[in-house]
Amino acid sequence: MSEGDVVYLVWNDLVGLARTRGVPKSEYEGRKEHGLGWAAAGQSLTPFEDIAPNPWGPMTELRQTPDPATQVHLDADGDWPALDFVLCNSLNADGSPWECCTRSFLIAALDDLKAETGLTLHSAYENEFLLTGGDGPWVAPFSLSSARHVAPFIERLVAALRSVDVGLETVEPEYGLSQYEVSCGPAEGVAGADRVVVTREVLREVARRCGLHASVSPKPTPDGVGNGCHLHMSFRDDQGNAAAYDPDGPGELSDVAAHFVAGISRHMAALTALTAPSPVSYLRLGPHHWSCGYNAVGVQNREAAVRICPSPKHDAAERGNAFNIEFRATDATASPYLALGAVVRAGLEGVRGKLPLPPLLDRDPADLSDAERQELGITPLPASLDEALDAFAADKTVLGWFTPTMIEAYTSLKRFESAMFADQSPEALCERYRFAY
Ligand code: GLU
Ligand code: MG
Repeated sequence: MSEGDVVYLVWNDLVGLARTRGVPKSEYEGRKEHGLGWAAAGQSLTPFEDIAPNPWGPMTELRQTPDPATQVHLDADGDWPALDFVLCNSLNADGSPWECCTRSFLIAALDDLKAETGLTLHSAYENEFLLTGGDGPWVAPFSLSSARHVAPFIERLVAALRSVDVGLETVEPEYGLSQYEVSCGPAEGVAGADRVVVTREVLREVARRCGLHASVSPKPTPDGVGNGCHLHMSFRDDQGNAAAYDPDGPGELSDVAAHFVAGISRHMAALTALTAPSPVSYLRLGPHHWSCGYNAVGVQNREAAVRICPSPKHDAAERGNAFNIEFRATDATASPYLALGAVVRAGLEGVRGKLPLPPLLDRDPADLSDAERQELGITPLPASLDEALDAFAADKTVLGWFTPTMIEAYTSLKRFESAMFADQSPEALCERYRFAY
């Protein structure tokens, strides 16, 4: 099949989906400066066919404007035409960032972090997913058979991800039946979140090309294993040196990293409204699934919402380079821009306030008694989207990161989404999100 003739302008919206309008390739150059128009009310689309009540009328419009640095080309493959897309910022007519643009929100948070601390943030995401549409025998979790069972898919996926330069590091079968994972290496600044958007779309495309379906929904089936989208972060100073690491710090965290983690911990409940932002997110979060159920911090602790990830290297410089902080309470129904932007904003609050690092927990928080958890300041994560939204509404600091219009739009959309599924069974809930994500 030939090259495609469409360039898709893609933006990641409040429900974390890649929305798009396309232009013929010959027209793309002329669209670079002002992009394409998009009704603001479209930002209040649920993942389904509905638009939630929103602050905009039928006339407010913004410009979905390409960032040419993010152009992606995926070669044609067999009968499938090539895929070309470019990531966009949502801008006002005068070229300034629109107050509800997720990508601009992250860029501003990263700029503030840099201005106040001199540090750049590097981030990487893990992408767990359920692959369906093929058939075959039961295969053991994490087994070579599980990988080879879908070998043609894996080979095409690896080739495709390498060709779009997302820093692919690993590909593997996961714990769940037909669950797999791809992980990408860290990238600086907004590129870290761009990578997850590109990775997901390439993953979906390759699955389609193979006649399969890839779902990154946090809980594709009520009894199956959840899909996380763990977010790894580290800092570099202006000399390019690793700045989250200090061999003498608690958990090897540098001072600034310890305050950053403390800020995340302080605002965790409100953050989940942005990082685990759908009704189905709360079927994933919970103790004993390694998805995390408690607001806790620990070295290598997979049941803590924040896991400190030491490097296996012995050389001090190399150890610092690979050292990172993992935020586990997030999934693919979140916009990676909003989620990372909010986590950075929370961390920056911790740095500003020089907040103390919470105790590093070396066991499963679910195994502690209530009294022990209370003493250590460990609290359960919100149990539902509504609980998370209540925490968001109650956290004045977090609200302060957004404009009133953004708070209204986001809250209205997410309350609407929650109400849509209030009377639905877990099976129905999982089934809808499985195909939306
Ligand atoms: N599937 C788990 C989650 O939902 C993560 C398992 C792992 O640590 O890789 O977060
Ligand atoms: Mg995993």
